[in-house]
Amino acid sequence: MANVLVYSLDGKIYVNLTNRCTNDCIFCLRNDKDDVCGQKLWLDSEDFTAEDVIGQYNEIIRNARNNGISYADEIIFCGYGEPMLKLDILKEVAKYIKETYPQVKIRVNTNGHANYVFKRNVVPELKGLVDLFSVSLNGENSEEYDELSQPKFEGAYDEVKKFIKACSDEEISVVSSVVEGYKGRHINIEKCEQIAKSLGSDFRVREWIPAGYS
Ligand code: SF4
Repeated sequence: MANVLVYSLDGKIYVNLTNRCTNDCIFCLRNDKDDVCGQKLWLDSEDFTAEDVIGQYNEIIRNARNNGISYADEIIFCGYGEPMLKLDILKEVAKYIKETYPQVKIRVNTNGHANYVFKRNVVPELKGLVDLFSVSLNGENSEEYDELSQPKFEGAYDEVKKFIKACSDEEISVVSSVVEGYKGRHINIEKCEQIAKSLGSDFRVREWIPAGYS
């Protein structure tokens, strides 16, 4: 089956750019499921172009118009992996969408490791392309972060916090999130919210539910 790079769910459109990630979160959906509500998100190949993504996006929009379906004016980069690892493709697709569908807001759900991975601050490159970053803060300190997110490099928690700050410094809207209630585990919500606010971001709690999280 062909790669599902773009899919729709509950009236929203999502982009699935990679199955790779620099974390291995204990609550990652990839560990438990092959699909999200019927969409197979394991890619057959990581070898594709921005044009492939744009082609699938346009097909969804075309089908929607032909069938009288309307989607929220938002596109979300997330899926089974860390979308910022495909930075060049993400930028190209976002630029196309901004030029072709200027009313569409672009959100990126990320683990916040991109500046570490690319060895530069990539956030300014996304100004005007990304409307909102949702960054997984995932804990109140590096010990908790390492336990829950199992990052593949040291110092990841500090990198996440620096990334969140870089977004707010660049005046791009940013939300820090935590997953609460995974298999009975509890996060110090108040402390995490304080950290998020101190970095200039909003805060969101994602409640764990057996089929995933909200
Ligand atoms: S950051 Fe996201 S994609 Fe990566 S392991 Fe964690 S939940 Fe999965």
